[in-house]
Amino acid sequence: MKKEFGIYIHIPFCSSICPFCNFNVYIDNKNDHIALIASIMDEILYMSHIFERNTLKSIHIGGGTPSLLKVENLEKIISEIYRIFKPDHKVEICIEINPYKFELEDFENYHNIGINRVSVGIQSFDNKKLKKLGRQSNEQKNIEICKQLNKSKILNINYDLIFGVPGETLASLEDDLNKSIELEPKHISTYLLTIEEDTPFFNLVGKNKFHENTDDEVIDKIELIENVLKNNNFNQYEISNYAKDSFESKHNLLYWNNCSYLGIGPGAHSHFVDHEKKIYKRWENYRDVKKYIGLASSNQNRFNLQEVFDINMYIKDSIMMGLRLNNGVNIQKLKAVKDFEFDKSEISKLLNLNLIEFKKNYLRLTCKGRQLSNKVLDNIINNLKGL
Ligand code: SF4
Repeated sequence: MKKEFGIYIHIPFCSSICPFCNFNVYIDNKNDHIALIASIMDEILYMSHIFERNTLKSIHIGGGTPSLLKVENLEKIISEIYRIFKPDHKVEICIEINPYKFELEDFENYHNIGINRVSVGIQSFDNKKLKKLGRQSNEQKNIEICKQLNKSKILNINYDLIFGVPGETLASLEDDLNKSIELEPKHISTYLLTIEEDTPFFNLVGKNKFHENTDDEVIDKIELIENVLKNNNFNQYEISNYAKDSFESKHNLLYWNNCSYLGIGPGAHSHFVDHEKKIYKRWENYRDVKKYIGLASSNQNRFNLQEVFDINMYIKDSIMMGLRLNNGVNIQKLKAVKDFEFDKSEISKLLNLNLIEFKKNYLRLTCKGRQLSNKVLDNIINNLKGL
């Protein structure tokens, strides 16, 4: 099996914190930038021995809001990664941005340092929805940034859209999709608003001031998204992700294919798999920025949580994540890692109910199966034999 991996860089600063967000983020403190970059560079070098036999497929600079960093700091990080690792001939280098002019560099500067994909947190073009989500933007500003980006040399552009916001109708969601399509991104990710603990939205739900969408409303919205994007030549390749031909996210595909990745920065997660050496482990860095920065040059791990797991868990995780993909999971390839069997009677029930299908070596969910994905996945995973 080819040993590929991706690098995720977590920049934990934002100019304001959105009330739905539960990522590891803090209000931006420019005074911490230099020390954070130094610690990130140090961690990249410190962890490099683990991934020295892997080929680098992608670098994803996320957060938080990485565009708050000066472009020369982003360049330092990218150059250090190229100096240390073995890059593929076409590495995807992606940066996440908000459509906020005051946070952005000239896009040509990003292109000049090798960034070839930009993921824009549009969320919506509906002013009421944007206000509810605490975004520092509006329809007009979103459109301006998108048009500016379209004029740059960066061709691979993603929009993140949120749906399921209280007050949103099918018509307003369709309007968001159509406005996105008009601006011609190559990729669209759609996320259902989920209410996470320790967020201002969570407190509103507790006080009955926030009305979540019902299951039926969510199903109708997912169907609408699938239809509108499909009719506009976006291929759904994962439950929440749609791309024009050959613009699928290389970085996210590494996650869904259960490959190795190195997470750098406060609170970043990593995952390492080596079948030959039978190494299966994942870890999570210290979340606190000061603690993370304080460990620079200390020759110590940046993580406080590490889990070593076995090949059986690897197979189960691979099936769980692979079934998120429309192509499904390559069963023959997995069996080459370790042989296992499905429960024949359970599988034939799922086949008869048209929830799953086999295509060549792949097992995948049908459209109906995707709507009931949690139940179908539980059924498959809990009935595996030989693990
Ligand atoms: S800008 Fe993005 S990362 Fe920052 S708080 Fe808002 S949603 Fe979270």
